[in-house]
Amino acid sequence: QAENTGLGSLATLKADIDSGAVETLVTLTPGNPIYDAPADLGFAESFAKLKSSFHLGTRTDATAHASTWHIPAAHYLEFWSDARTSRGVYTVVQPMILPLYPDCVSELELLSALLSEDGKLLTGEGEKGAPSPAYTAIRATFSALGGEGDAAWKKLLRDGYLAGSTYQPATPAARGDMSAPLVANAPTKDALEVIFATDASVYDGRWIDNGWLQEAPDPISKITWDNAALIAPKTAKELGIYDDIITPEPVSSMIGIDGVAMNKFAKVGPDGEGENRKQRMIKVEVNGQSLELPVIISFGQAENTVVIPLGYGQGFNEHDELKRDTKNVSHVGQVGVNTGFNAYPLRTAATQYFATGAKVSKTDKRYSVALTQEHSAMYGRALAREISTMPDVKKGDFAAQLADVVLQGNDSHAPKNISLYKPVGSSTFHPGKDGKAQPLLSDPLHQWGMSIDLSSCTGCNSCLIACQAENNIPIVGKEQVARGREMHWIRMDRYFASQEKYYDEHGHEHETPEWVRDNPALVPQPVACVQCESAPCETVCPVNATIHTEDGLNAMAYNRCIGTRYCANNCPYKARRFNYFDYNKRNPLISHNLYKGPFGEKQVGEAPHLQRNPNVTVRMRGVMEKCTYCVQRLKDAVIRQKGGQKQEALVAGKASTDMTVNERTLRIPVDSVKVACQDACSAGAITFGNLLDGDKSVMVRSKHIERNYDLLQYIGTRPRTSYLARVKNPNP
Ligand code: SF4
Ligand code: SF4
Repeated sequence: QAENTGLGSLATLKADIDSGAVETLVTLTPGNPIYDAPADLGFAESFAKLKSSFHLGTRTDATAHASTWHIPAAHYLEFWSDARTSRGVYTVVQPMILPLYPDCVSELELLSALLSEDGKLLTGEGEKGAPSPAYTAIRATFSALGGEGDAAWKKLLRDGYLAGSTYQPATPAARGDMSAPLVANAPTKDALEVIFATDASVYDGRWIDNGWLQEAPDPISKITWDNAALIAPKTAKELGIYDDIITPEPVSSMIGIDGVAMNKFAKVGPDGEGENRKQRMIKVEVNGQSLELPVIISFGQAENTVVIPLGYGQGFNEHDELKRDTKNVSHVGQVGVNTGFNAYPLRTAATQYFATGAKVSKTDKRYSVALTQEHSAMYGRALAREISTMPDVKKGDFAAQLADVVLQGNDSHAPKNISLYKPVGSSTFHPGKDGKAQPLLSDPLHQWGMSIDLSSCTGCNSCLIACQAENNIPIVGKEQVARGREMHWIRMDRYFASQEKYYDEHGHEHETPEWVRDNPALVPQPVACVQCESAPCETVCPVNATIHTEDGLNAMAYNRCIGTRYCANNCPYKARRFNYFDYNKRNPLISHNLYKGPFGEKQVGEAPHLQRNPNVTVRMRGVMEKCTYCVQRLKDAVIRQKGGQKQEALVAGKASTDMTVNERTLRIPVDSVKVACQDACSAGAITFGNLLDGDKSVMVRSKHIERNYDLLQYIGTRPRTSYLARVKNPNP
């Protein structure tokens, strides 16, 4: 980047405060240096020397409490703003909504006030219909960059960025010997390397009070509501943390009366499972500091390294399991309190992202952690399928592997499903022998389907959160997650896999080298209700609360459900979620509150009703729920399509009864409706649409390629959601 941003370092700022050059400090959101500045800097002591300090933030965090004044910040989607990407591209932030709380201030408004002559703080809309001061400021900045006039401004709003505003590339001069290793010695078990990572949920700690993110499982460890030290299986054994090397696929065998091993089954790990899981704790000593925290085995991680996600441990109250100091309890809200362990004190200014020479020892302590996935392997069921561009003597070349995608796992030998019903088809998607569908069960306009590409999915959780927001899915708290009662309609699975054997060009079998087996591949797989055409959940519901719609959805009539949970037991995909408690009305974050029933404390705060999607029912205790392909969006699109024709008639000066209504005019345009998860997926892994649109629909085209397979195809549920196998390119 050629532009000089004028950014200094925290160390320079500290020196300026110490020397008295800086007397007043304004910290803008989401800055929280009292919590996250490197420990050796002593920033908090210098901060206390300031004559006055202002903190603009959405949370009253550690820095807010250390400041003279805290200014509540507006959300970034409540005001006009602009920004530059890391490459320098100019972009503009448009408000989605007027500020919910008029007293909140945006960064731009605060900076404008500080730079203005009278120092007056102007927030929100301008007076008497005038544009807001923030809007005026953005227009002025843009005029200098992109030109005057409305045409250029409208183009910016439409495109979202200013073309040609990238920074000029700069050629940095190399400092020192770039080929020299950053660290003199490779880490050993007596001098480990600690990697400080931003957390997948709370990032650097700024989202610690966000319940959706806290309950979203870490993509790799699957931990919720906490962080933990991640460590390689062999390193854990060498350090004496575990007696054995933990593998992704631990199995036990049942020994028969003749002493011979019978069926193999998945073995419970050494730390227990579910609500009984008590993870062992380790002590990490580095840079003259120490931290005790739970440890989780991380397959494929480099040996002699410890990864610690940052951002947790900001405040504790009397309910903390480890009875930690409660002095910082006011730095977090009721979502973030008692969550995780603060690794910031282990960092130094010189190496903020890693530390070397760490000592790790096992402690006698245990700590409860809540994981959403206890197992790490597929146990031979080929749930997430993968093929390789590398030819394999047994599996053949790429083309042969592609042809065999549908025959992986049990599908290679399970007998073909033969239906007892005639005609075979129950919908337009699976027509009967005569090519016709059963008319009473089929909607001739729309038959919905979905395709998920495992080659594109990165397991980022965006779809899970988007689904939660769209469908009013509650959080349930750590205690209930540990019992397997999380309510996410999308379960974000992940599996580790490595080949134990490989074959040379002569077809001879060899053991895979240890270093390859120690580095298993990770495959994420989002699983929601796959909308089985032959749905096992429907046949067992005694009150017809879960039924099939004519457009191919497995629908839920919530107010008919009596909560027998037969459907959840009979769902082979485990896609159903049960409201064990009134999560939407009772506060799940207060210890044991859910168990108090009507005497428990209700939800607090003013915002919960604003968070809900008004088009989706809020479910109550005793009701089953699951993905319905965002039925509210589908119905909205269908109704709009009908309404649009009426409009056309009116515009043409006709009575709406004069319009010709037929299948062509009533069918919504191809791929014009998007479900929430598809909308949010930045990788484009999810495609959705109408199966009756044929190859015009991207989703249908996805289903026609060879990588397409149905999950648990051999049980014959005929799911509407199918997957595309992941393609691996080992790049030898
Ligand atoms: S995935 Fe489960 S809940 Fe969904 S239709 Fe199939 S059996 Fe029913
Ligand atoms: S949003 Fe897309 S990439 Fe992210 S987990 Fe979901 S499907 Fe995968």
